[in-house]
Amino acid sequence: MHRREFLAAPLLTASAFSAPAMGRRYHVCLSSTALERNPELIDLVKQAGVHTIWLTGFLYGHWYYEPARIAAAARSIRKAGMEAEIAFVPLGHPGDSLGDKVGEPPLIPPPHWRQCVHADGSRHWGTSLHAPATAENTAALARLDGMGFRTLFLDDDFRLAVSPGSIGGCFCEDHWRRFLRMHGYGAGVREQLAGDIQARVLSPQLRAWVEFHCSELTACFRALQRARKGITVGNMVMYLGAEKAGIRLGDYRGVPLRVGELMFSDREFDRVKGKTDELFSALFHRRFTTPELAYSETTAFPADRLSASNMAAKFSISTLVDIRNTMMMSGLTPFPASHWQVLAPAMRRQAEIHAEVAGHAPAGPFKHYWGEHSRYVGDDKPYSLFLASGIPFEVCGALPSTGWAFLSDADARAQLRSPGAELITRRETPETIDDMFALKRRLLPHLGSVPFVEEEQPAVCAWYPTARRALIWNLSNERRAFTLRQGARRIPLRATPLELLSVPL
Ligand SMILES: [Zn+2]
Repeated sequence: MHRREFLAAPLLTASAFSAPAMGRRYHVCLSSTALERNPELIDLVKQAGVHTIWLTGFLYGHWYYEPARIAAAARSIRKAGMEAEIAFVPLGHPGDSLGDKVGEPPLIPPPHWRQCVHADGSRHWGTSLHAPATAENTAALARLDGMGFRTLFLDDDFRLAVSPGSIGGCFCEDHWRRFLRMHGYGAGVREQLAGDIQARVLSPQLRAWVEFHCSELTACFRALQRARKGITVGNMVMYLGAEKAGIRLGDYRGVPLRVGELMFSDREFDRVKGKTDELFSALFHRRFTTPELAYSETTAFPADRLSASNMAAKFSISTLVDIRNTMMMSGLTPFPASHWQVLAPAMRRQAEIHAEVAGHAPAGPFKHYWGEHSRYVGDDKPYSLFLASGIPFEVCGALPSTGWAFLSDADARAQLRSPGAELITRRETPETIDDMFALKRRLLPHLGSVPFVEEEQPAVCAWYPTARRALIWNLSNERRAFTLRQGARRIPLRATPLELLSVPL
Protein backbone atom coordinates (compact mmCIF):
# COMPACT_ATOMS: atom_id res chain seq x y z
CA MET A 1 0.00 0.00 0.00
CA HIS A 2 1.26 3.50 -0.85
CA ARG A 3 1.71 5.84 2.02
CA ARG A 4 -1.06 8.11 0.77
CA GLU A 5 -3.52 5.23 0.46
CA PHE A 6 -2.65 4.21 3.98
CA LEU A 7 -3.32 7.70 5.32
CA ALA A 8 -6.56 7.94 3.35
CA ALA A 9 -7.99 4.73 4.72
CA PRO A 10 -7.53 4.77 8.48
CA LEU A 11 -11.14 3.87 9.27
CA LEU A 12 -11.21 0.96 6.90
CA THR A 13 -7.90 -0.28 8.26
CA ALA A 14 -9.03 0.06 11.83
CA SER A 15 -12.29 -1.83 11.38
CA ALA A 16 -10.79 -4.49 9.14
CA PHE A 17 -8.11 -5.05 11.76
CA SER A 18 -10.28 -4.97 14.84
CA ALA A 19 -13.07 -7.25 13.66
CA PRO A 20 -11.18 -10.53 13.93
CA ALA A 21 -9.04 -9.27 16.81
CA MET A 22 -12.15 -8.66 18.94
CA GLY A 23 -13.00 -12.34 18.92
CA ARG A 24 -12.77 -14.57 21.96
CA ARG A 25 -10.74 -17.69 21.33
CA TYR A 26 -10.68 -20.93 23.26
CA HIS A 27 -7.62 -23.10 23.70
CA VAL A 28 -6.94 -26.37 25.48
CA CYS A 29 -3.64 -27.99 26.50
CA LEU A 30 -3.38 -31.73 25.81
CA SER A 31 -0.50 -34.16 25.60
CA SER A 32 0.16 -36.26 22.52
CA THR A 33 -0.45 -39.35 24.71
CA ALA A 34 -3.93 -38.08 25.59
CA LEU A 35 -4.70 -37.65 21.89
CA GLU A 36 -3.27 -41.08 20.98
CA ARG A 37 -5.40 -42.75 23.65
CA ASN A 38 -8.52 -40.71 22.89
CA PRO A 39 -8.38 -39.74 19.20
CA GLU A 40 -12.02 -38.62 19.40
CA LEU A 41 -10.92 -35.77 21.71
CA ILE A 42 -9.86 -33.66 18.73
CA ASP A 43 -13.34 -33.62 17.19
CA LEU A 44 -14.97 -33.27 20.57
CA VAL A 45 -13.10 -30.09 21.47
CA LYS A 46 -13.46 -28.75 17.94
CA GLN A 47 -17.24 -29.16 18.06
CA ALA A 48 -17.24 -27.40 21.41
CA GLY A 49 -15.56 -24.38 19.81
CA VAL A 50 -11.89 -24.81 20.69
CA HIS A 51 -9.62 -22.97 18.25
CA THR A 52 -6.16 -24.23 19.26
CA ILE A 53 -4.77 -27.33 20.96
CA TRP A 54 -1.47 -26.80 22.79
CA LEU A 55 0.67 -29.91 22.86
CA THR A 56 3.03 -30.78 25.68
CA GLY A 57 6.65 -30.42 24.56
CA PHE A 58 9.97 -30.49 26.35
CA LEU A 59 9.74 -31.29 30.09
CA TYR A 60 12.68 -29.87 32.14
CA GLY A 61 15.45 -31.80 30.45
CA HIS A 62 13.34 -34.72 29.22
CA TRP A 63 11.75 -35.50 25.86
CA TYR A 64 9.09 -37.66 27.49
CA TYR A 65 6.91 -37.11 24.41
CA GLU A 66 9.31 -37.66 21.52
CA PRO A 67 9.28 -34.98 18.82
CA ALA A 68 8.01 -37.48 16.21
CA ARG A 69 4.90 -38.16 18.31
CA ILE A 70 4.37 -34.45 18.87
CA ALA A 71 4.63 -33.86 15.11
CA ALA A 72 2.08 -36.62 14.42
CA ALA A 73 -0.33 -35.15 16.97
CA ALA A 74 0.07 -31.69 15.42
CA ARG A 75 -0.75 -33.12 11.98
CA SER A 76 -3.94 -34.76 13.31
CA ILE A 77 -5.04 -31.49 14.91
CA ARG A 78 -4.42 -29.46 11.75
CA LYS A 79 -6.10 -32.08 9.58
CA ALA A 80 -9.20 -31.56 11.72
CA GLY A 81 -9.05 -27.85 10.90
CA MET A 82 -7.64 -26.53 14.15
CA GLU A 83 -4.42 -24.81 15.14
CA ALA A 84 -1.69 -26.77 16.97
CA GLU A 85 0.84 -24.99 19.20
CA ILE A 86 3.38 -26.12 21.79
CA ALA A 87 3.98 -25.64 25.53
CA PHE A 88 7.18 -26.41 27.44
CA VAL A 89 7.62 -27.08 31.13
CA PRO A 90 11.09 -25.51 30.99
CA LEU A 91 12.52 -25.72 34.52
CA GLY A 92 10.38 -28.21 36.43
CA HIS A 93 7.98 -27.74 39.32
CA PRO A 94 9.05 -28.39 42.90
CA GLY A 95 6.55 -31.28 43.12
CA ASP A 96 4.23 -33.39 40.97
CA SER A 97 2.32 -30.56 39.37
CA LEU A 98 1.55 -32.35 36.13
CA GLY A 99 -0.60 -35.15 37.46
CA ASP A 100 -0.13 -37.82 34.82
CA LYS A 101 -2.36 -40.67 35.97
CA VAL A 102 0.08 -43.29 34.70
CA GLY A 103 2.85 -41.71 36.71
CA GLU A 104 5.44 -42.37 34.05
CA PRO A 105 6.85 -38.93 33.30
CA PRO A 106 9.83 -38.19 35.52
CA LEU A 107 8.97 -35.65 38.20
CA ILE A 108 12.38 -34.01 38.42
CA PRO A 109 15.03 -32.88 35.93
CA PRO A 110 17.78 -35.32 34.90
CA PRO A 111 20.81 -35.77 37.21
CA HIS A 112 23.07 -33.46 35.19
CA TRP A 113 20.74 -30.52 35.98
CA ARG A 114 21.21 -28.69 39.27
CA GLN A 115 19.09 -28.06 42.33
CA CYS A 116 18.07 -24.78 43.93
CA VAL A 117 19.68 -24.05 47.29
CA HIS A 118 17.71 -22.09 49.90
CA ALA A 119 19.17 -19.65 52.42
CA ASP A 120 19.12 -22.39 55.09
CA GLY A 121 20.98 -24.83 52.83
CA SER A 122 17.96 -27.01 52.01
CA ARG A 123 17.46 -27.89 48.35
CA HIS A 124 14.74 -28.55 45.83
CA TRP A 125 14.45 -29.47 42.18
CA GLY A 126 12.84 -27.16 39.64
CA THR A 127 11.91 -23.44 39.64
CA SER A 128 15.58 -22.45 39.52
CA LEU A 129 17.87 -21.62 36.63
CA HIS A 130 21.29 -23.17 36.12
CA ALA A 131 23.19 -24.41 33.11
CA PRO A 132 22.27 -26.40 31.05
CA ALA A 133 18.56 -25.41 31.33
CA THR A 134 18.68 -22.49 28.89
CA ALA A 135 20.84 -24.36 26.37
CA GLU A 136 18.68 -27.49 26.49
CA ASN A 137 15.41 -25.59 26.16
CA THR A 138 16.84 -23.63 23.25
CA ALA A 139 18.01 -26.83 21.58
CA ALA A 140 14.60 -28.39 22.22
CA LEU A 141 12.96 -25.51 20.40
CA ALA A 142 15.23 -26.18 17.43
CA ARG A 143 14.05 -29.79 17.30
CA LEU A 144 10.53 -28.51 16.62
CA ASP A 145 11.61 -26.88 13.37
CA GLY A 146 9.42 -27.79 10.45
CA MET A 147 6.50 -28.87 12.64
CA GLY A 148 4.55 -25.67 11.94
CA PHE A 149 4.44 -24.27 15.47
CA ARG A 150 4.24 -20.48 15.66
CA THR A 151 3.92 -19.96 19.41
CA LEU A 152 5.65 -21.58 22.38
CA PHE A 153 4.18 -21.09 25.83
CA LEU A 154 6.39 -21.62 28.86
CA ASP A 155 4.51 -23.19 31.76
CA ASP A 156 4.50 -21.34 35.08
CA ASP A 157 7.42 -23.36 36.40
CA PHE A 158 9.35 -20.66 34.50
CA ARG A 159 9.96 -18.82 37.76
CA LEU A 160 12.53 -18.74 40.54
CA ALA A 161 10.34 -19.24 43.63
CA VAL A 162 8.70 -22.44 44.77
CA SER A 163 5.17 -21.09 45.12
CA PRO A 164 3.03 -17.93 45.26
CA GLY A 165 4.05 -15.75 48.19
CA SER A 166 7.61 -17.03 48.49
CA ILE A 167 10.60 -14.79 47.90
CA GLY A 168 12.78 -16.84 45.60
CA GLY A 169 16.37 -17.00 44.46
CA CYS A 170 19.14 -19.54 44.65
CA PHE A 171 21.92 -19.48 47.27
CA CYS A 172 24.16 -22.04 45.56
CA GLU A 173 27.86 -21.18 45.47
CA ASP A 174 27.76 -20.02 41.88
CA HIS A 175 24.73 -17.74 42.25
CA TRP A 176 25.99 -16.33 45.53
CA ARG A 177 29.45 -15.54 44.18
CA ARG A 178 28.04 -13.80 41.13
CA PHE A 179 25.59 -11.78 43.26
CA LEU A 180 28.37 -10.54 45.57
CA ARG A 181 30.61 -9.66 42.67
CA MET A 182 27.87 -7.75 40.81
CA HIS A 183 27.08 -5.52 43.79
CA GLY A 184 30.43 -5.41 45.57
CA TYR A 185 28.86 -6.84 48.71
CA GLY A 186 30.90 -8.60 51.38
CA ALA A 187 29.95 -12.07 52.57
CA GLY A 188 28.32 -10.53 55.67
CA VAL A 189 25.36 -9.44 53.57
CA ARG A 190 24.10 -13.00 53.66
CA GLU A 191 22.79 -12.79 57.20
CA GLN A 192 21.11 -9.43 56.49
CA LEU A 193 19.52 -10.78 53.33
CA ALA A 194 18.27 -13.96 54.98
CA GLY A 195 16.76 -11.82 57.75
CA ASP A 196 15.08 -9.49 55.24
CA ILE A 197 13.62 -12.45 53.36
CA GLN A 198 12.33 -13.92 56.60
CA ALA A 199 10.82 -10.58 57.73
CA ARG A 200 9.73 -9.58 54.18
CA VAL A 201 11.51 -6.24 54.35
CA LEU A 202 12.16 -4.50 51.03
CA SER A 203 15.72 -3.43 51.89
CA PRO A 204 18.28 -2.34 49.26
CA GLN A 205 20.00 -5.74 49.42
CA LEU A 206 16.74 -7.64 49.06
CA ARG A 207 15.75 -5.51 46.08
CA ALA A 208 19.17 -6.19 44.52
CA TRP A 209 18.73 -9.93 45.15
CA VAL A 210 15.31 -10.00 43.49
CA GLU A 211 16.48 -7.93 40.52
CA PHE A 212 19.55 -10.16 40.08
CA HIS A 213 17.28 -13.17 39.64
CA CYS A 214 14.78 -11.31 37.47
CA SER A 215 17.60 -10.37 35.08
CA GLU A 216 18.71 -13.98 34.86
CA LEU A 217 15.21 -15.28 34.10
CA THR A 218 14.62 -12.55 31.52
CA ALA A 219 17.93 -13.41 29.85
CA CYS A 220 16.78 -17.03 29.51
CA PHE A 221 13.50 -15.85 28.00
CA ARG A 222 15.34 -13.61 25.53
CA ALA A 223 17.59 -16.52 24.51
CA LEU A 224 14.48 -18.59 23.71
CA GLN A 225 12.98 -15.66 21.79
CA ARG A 226 16.14 -15.36 19.69
CA ALA A 227 16.48 -19.09 19.15
CA ARG A 228 13.93 -19.49 16.39
CA LYS A 229 12.68 -16.73 14.12
CA GLY A 230 9.00 -17.29 13.44
CA ILE A 231 8.26 -18.80 16.85
CA THR A 232 6.83 -16.33 19.36
CA VAL A 233 7.55 -17.18 22.98
CA GLY A 234 4.87 -16.56 25.61
CA ASN A 235 5.08 -16.60 29.40
CA MET A 236 2.63 -18.03 31.92
CA VAL A 237 3.27 -16.20 35.15
CA MET A 238 1.76 -18.11 38.11
CA TYR A 239 -0.91 -16.80 40.50
CA LEU A 240 0.12 -13.21 41.35
CA GLY A 241 3.55 -14.07 39.93
CA ALA A 242 5.90 -11.08 40.00
CA GLU A 243 9.42 -9.92 40.79
CA LYS A 244 9.92 -11.93 44.00
CA ALA A 245 9.58 -15.04 41.81
CA GLY A 246 12.11 -13.71 39.28
CA ILE A 247 9.34 -12.47 36.97
CA ARG A 248 9.97 -8.79 36.16
CA LEU A 249 6.56 -8.26 34.65
CA GLY A 250 7.54 -5.20 32.61
CA ASP A 251 9.98 -7.38 30.65
CA TYR A 252 7.12 -9.42 29.18
CA ARG A 253 5.14 -6.63 27.57
CA GLY A 254 4.42 -7.37 23.93
CA VAL A 255 4.57 -11.18 24.24
CA PRO A 256 1.70 -13.62 24.87
CA LEU A 257 1.10 -13.49 28.62
CA ARG A 258 -0.91 -16.08 30.50
CA VAL A 259 -2.34 -14.51 33.65
CA GLY A 260 -2.02 -16.36 36.94
CA GLU A 261 -4.92 -18.21 38.55
CA LEU A 262 -4.98 -20.67 41.44
CA MET A 263 -8.39 -22.12 42.28
CA PHE A 264 -8.00 -25.44 40.49
CA SER A 265 -10.52 -27.53 42.44
CA ASP A 266 -14.13 -27.14 43.62
CA ARG A 267 -12.88 -26.93 47.20
CA GLU A 268 -10.95 -23.77 46.32
CA PHE A 269 -13.16 -22.22 43.67
CA ASP A 270 -16.51 -22.77 45.45
CA ARG A 271 -15.59 -20.14 48.03
CA VAL A 272 -16.51 -16.53 47.19
CA LYS A 273 -13.01 -15.53 48.28
CA GLY A 274 -11.57 -18.15 45.90
CA LYS A 275 -13.35 -16.47 43.02
CA THR A 276 -12.36 -12.93 44.01
CA ASP A 277 -8.71 -13.91 44.57
CA GLU A 278 -8.62 -15.48 41.11
CA LEU A 279 -10.24 -12.42 39.54
CA PHE A 280 -7.82 -10.17 41.46
CA SER A 281 -4.76 -11.97 40.06
CA ALA A 282 -6.10 -11.84 36.48
CA LEU A 283 -6.82 -8.10 36.81
CA PHE A 284 -3.28 -7.51 38.10
CA HIS A 285 -1.54 -9.33 35.27
CA ARG A 286 -3.71 -7.74 32.58
CA ARG A 287 -1.94 -4.46 33.43
CA PHE A 288 1.11 -5.85 31.64
CA THR A 289 -0.43 -7.03 28.38
CA THR A 290 -3.00 -6.22 25.73
CA PRO A 291 -6.36 -8.04 25.48
CA GLU A 292 -5.24 -9.79 22.29
CA LEU A 293 -2.02 -11.13 23.85
CA ALA A 294 -3.70 -12.11 27.13
CA TYR A 295 -4.41 -15.77 27.91
CA SER A 296 -6.19 -17.19 30.93
CA GLU A 297 -4.90 -20.01 33.11
CA THR A 298 -8.35 -21.73 33.50
CA THR A 299 -7.00 -24.86 35.15
CA ALA A 300 -8.55 -27.93 36.75
CA PHE A 301 -6.14 -29.88 38.95
CA PRO A 302 -6.20 -32.75 39.55
CA ALA A 303 -8.10 -33.03 36.28
CA ASP A 304 -11.35 -34.36 37.76
CA ARG A 305 -11.52 -32.09 40.82
CA LEU A 306 -13.16 -29.07 39.19
CA SER A 307 -16.78 -29.47 38.10
CA ALA A 308 -17.81 -28.52 34.58
CA SER A 309 -20.02 -25.74 35.96
CA ASN A 310 -17.09 -24.25 37.89
CA MET A 311 -14.83 -24.55 34.84
CA ALA A 312 -17.52 -22.69 32.85
CA ALA A 313 -17.78 -20.09 35.62
CA LYS A 314 -14.06 -19.40 35.23
CA PHE A 315 -14.78 -18.20 31.68
CA SER A 316 -16.46 -15.17 33.27
CA ILE A 317 -13.07 -14.06 34.58
CA SER A 318 -11.68 -13.86 31.02
CA THR A 319 -14.76 -11.89 29.94
CA LEU A 320 -14.69 -9.43 32.85
CA VAL A 321 -10.95 -8.79 32.46
CA ASP A 322 -11.00 -8.64 28.63
CA ILE A 323 -8.68 -11.60 28.20
CA ARG A 324 -9.31 -12.67 24.62
CA ASN A 325 -7.81 -16.16 24.91
CA THR A 326 -9.22 -18.65 27.37
CA MET A 327 -6.67 -21.45 27.73
CA MET A 328 -7.87 -24.57 29.53
CA MET A 329 -5.44 -26.93 31.22
CA SER A 330 -5.55 -29.93 33.55
CA GLY A 331 -1.98 -31.23 33.82
CA LEU A 332 -1.16 -34.17 31.59
CA THR A 333 -4.55 -35.87 32.14
CA PRO A 334 -7.55 -34.44 30.24
CA PHE A 335 -10.55 -33.41 32.31
CA PRO A 336 -13.66 -35.62 31.88
CA ALA A 337 -15.01 -35.65 28.30
CA SER A 338 -18.53 -35.07 29.64
CA HIS A 339 -17.41 -31.57 30.71
CA TRP A 340 -17.65 -30.39 27.11
CA GLN A 341 -21.45 -30.67 27.09
CA VAL A 342 -21.52 -27.96 29.74
CA LEU A 343 -18.53 -25.98 28.43
CA ALA A 344 -19.63 -25.66 24.78
CA PRO A 345 -22.78 -23.55 25.32
CA ALA A 346 -20.98 -21.54 28.03
CA MET A 347 -18.14 -20.79 25.58
CA ARG A 348 -20.58 -19.43 23.02
CA ARG A 349 -22.47 -17.32 25.55
CA GLN A 350 -19.27 -15.85 27.02
CA ALA A 351 -18.04 -14.91 23.53
CA GLU A 352 -21.30 -13.02 22.89
CA ILE A 353 -21.09 -11.12 26.18
CA HIS A 354 -17.38 -10.47 25.68
CA ALA A 355 -18.04 -8.83 22.29
CA GLU A 356 -20.26 -6.28 24.08
CA VAL A 357 -17.46 -5.03 26.36
CA ALA A 358 -14.25 -5.93 24.46
CA GLY A 359 -11.87 -3.00 24.34
CA HIS A 360 -13.61 -1.22 27.24
CA ALA A 361 -12.13 -0.90 30.72
CA PRO A 362 -14.11 -1.31 33.93
CA ALA A 363 -14.47 1.87 35.99
CA GLY A 364 -15.66 2.55 39.50
CA PRO A 365 -14.95 3.99 42.93
CA PHE A 366 -13.34 0.83 44.30
CA LYS A 367 -9.68 0.57 43.28
CA HIS A 368 -7.71 -2.56 42.51
CA TYR A 369 -4.14 -1.83 43.57
CA TRP A 370 -1.19 -4.21 43.94
CA GLY A 371 1.91 -2.25 44.78
CA GLU A 372 5.65 -2.72 44.76
CA HIS A 373 5.79 -4.24 48.23
CA SER A 374 3.23 -6.88 47.23
CA ARG A 375 5.31 -7.69 44.18
CA TYR A 376 8.72 -7.83 45.91
CA VAL A 377 8.04 -9.06 49.44
CA GLY A 378 4.30 -9.76 49.82
CA ASP A 379 2.62 -13.03 50.76
CA ASP A 380 0.26 -13.04 47.73
CA LYS A 381 -2.86 -12.90 49.87
CA PRO A 382 -4.82 -10.08 48.24
CA TYR A 383 -7.54 -8.08 49.97
CA SER A 384 -10.00 -9.03 47.25
CA LEU A 385 -13.51 -9.40 48.66
CA PHE A 386 -14.41 -5.87 47.59
CA LEU A 387 -14.82 -7.41 44.14
CA ALA A 388 -17.84 -9.33 45.50
CA SER A 389 -19.53 -6.26 47.00
CA GLY A 390 -21.62 -5.32 43.94
CA ILE A 391 -19.84 -1.95 43.68
CA PRO A 392 -17.86 -1.22 40.47
CA PHE A 393 -14.10 -1.13 40.50
CA GLU A 394 -11.17 -0.13 38.34
CA VAL A 395 -7.58 -1.26 38.05
CA CYS A 396 -4.82 1.19 39.04
CA GLY A 397 -1.20 0.92 37.94
CA ALA A 398 -0.21 3.48 40.59
CA LEU A 399 -1.62 4.45 43.97
CA PRO A 400 -5.01 6.06 43.19
CA SER A 401 -5.88 9.62 44.23
CA THR A 402 -9.66 9.09 44.45
CA GLY A 403 -12.05 6.41 45.67
CA TRP A 404 -11.36 3.51 47.99
CA ALA A 405 -8.31 1.27 47.55
CA PHE A 406 -7.89 -2.08 49.29
CA LEU A 407 -4.29 -2.70 50.34
CA SER A 408 -2.53 -6.00 50.84
CA ASP A 409 -0.78 -6.42 54.19
CA ALA A 410 2.61 -5.83 52.49
CA ASP A 411 1.47 -2.56 50.89
CA ALA A 412 -0.22 -1.55 54.16
CA ARG A 413 3.10 -2.01 56.02
CA ALA A 414 4.77 0.30 53.49
CA GLN A 415 2.76 3.21 54.97
CA LEU A 416 1.63 4.56 51.61
CA ARG A 417 -0.07 7.94 51.44
CA SER A 418 -2.66 9.00 48.89
CA PRO A 419 -3.75 12.63 48.47
CA GLY A 420 -7.41 11.76 47.95
CA ALA A 421 -8.14 8.05 48.07
CA GLU A 422 -9.15 6.25 51.21
CA LEU A 423 -6.69 3.41 51.74
CA ILE A 424 -8.42 0.48 53.39
CA THR A 425 -6.34 -2.09 55.20
CA ARG A 426 -7.44 -5.46 56.46
CA ARG A 427 -8.70 -5.66 60.03
CA GLU A 428 -8.93 -9.44 59.98
CA THR A 429 -7.38 -12.18 57.91
CA PRO A 430 -9.10 -13.40 55.90
CA GLU A 431 -11.43 -10.50 55.35
CA THR A 432 -15.19 -11.09 55.66
CA ILE A 433 -17.99 -10.34 53.23
CA ASP A 434 -20.02 -8.83 56.10
CA ASP A 435 -17.31 -6.19 56.55
CA MET A 436 -17.63 -5.43 52.85
CA PHE A 437 -21.38 -5.04 53.06
CA ALA A 438 -21.03 -2.77 56.10
CA LEU A 439 -18.65 -0.58 54.09
CA LYS A 440 -21.09 -0.69 51.16
CA ARG A 441 -23.94 0.64 53.33
CA ARG A 442 -21.72 3.52 54.39
CA LEU A 443 -20.73 4.39 50.81
CA LEU A 444 -24.05 4.09 48.98
CA PRO A 445 -25.09 7.72 49.60
CA HIS A 446 -21.88 8.86 47.86
CA LEU A 447 -22.15 6.78 44.67
CA GLY A 448 -24.10 9.33 42.58
CA SER A 449 -24.52 7.99 39.03
CA VAL A 450 -22.36 4.91 39.59
CA PRO A 451 -24.46 1.75 39.11
CA PHE A 452 -24.35 -0.88 41.84
CA VAL A 453 -26.08 -4.05 43.01
CA GLU A 454 -28.49 -3.19 45.81
CA GLU A 455 -28.67 -6.56 47.53
CA GLU A 456 -26.16 -7.74 50.10
CA GLN A 457 -25.40 -10.88 48.14
CA PRO A 458 -21.96 -11.69 46.71
CA ALA A 459 -21.84 -10.40 43.13
CA VAL A 460 -19.25 -8.77 40.91
CA CYS A 461 -20.51 -5.56 39.30
CA ALA A 462 -18.17 -4.50 36.50
CA TRP A 463 -19.18 -1.21 34.91
CA TYR A 464 -17.98 -0.29 31.42
CA PRO A 465 -19.19 3.34 31.02
CA THR A 466 -17.78 3.68 27.48
CA ALA A 467 -19.79 0.59 26.44
CA ARG A 468 -22.85 1.80 28.43
CA ARG A 469 -23.08 -1.59 29.99
CA ALA A 470 -22.52 -3.47 33.25
CA LEU A 471 -21.68 -7.13 33.78
CA ILE A 472 -23.08 -8.72 36.92
CA TRP A 473 -21.54 -12.03 38.00
CA ASN A 474 -23.56 -14.02 40.52
CA LEU A 475 -20.89 -15.51 42.81
CA SER A 476 -23.24 -17.87 44.55
CA ASN A 477 -24.30 -21.40 43.66
CA GLU A 478 -27.94 -20.31 44.12
CA ARG A 479 -30.39 -18.56 41.85
CA ARG A 480 -30.52 -14.90 42.82
CA ALA A 481 -32.66 -11.88 42.14
CA PHE A 482 -30.58 -8.72 41.90
CA THR A 483 -31.47 -5.07 41.49
CA LEU A 484 -29.03 -2.92 39.53
CA ARG A 485 -29.46 0.61 40.81
CA GLN A 486 -28.21 3.72 39.01
CA GLY A 487 -29.40 7.00 40.48
CA ALA A 488 -33.21 6.75 40.55
CA ARG A 489 -33.26 3.89 38.07
CA ARG A 490 -33.68 0.32 39.32
CA ILE A 491 -33.26 -2.65 36.97
CA PRO A 492 -34.52 -6.02 38.27
CA LEU A 493 -32.36 -9.00 37.27
CA ARG A 494 -32.50 -12.74 37.70
CA ALA A 495 -29.39 -14.92 37.64
CA THR A 496 -28.93 -18.68 37.64
CA PRO A 497 -26.10 -20.07 39.83
CA LEU A 498 -22.77 -18.45 38.85
CA GLU A 499 -24.36 -16.76 35.84
CA LEU A 500 -22.79 -13.70 34.19
CA LEU A 501 -25.43 -11.15 33.17
CA SER A 502 -24.89 -8.38 30.65
CA VAL A 503 -27.00 -5.28 31.30
CA PRO A 504 -27.27 -2.29 28.91
CA LEU A 505 -27.35 1.07 30.72
ZN1 LIG B 1 21.99 -21.61 41.99
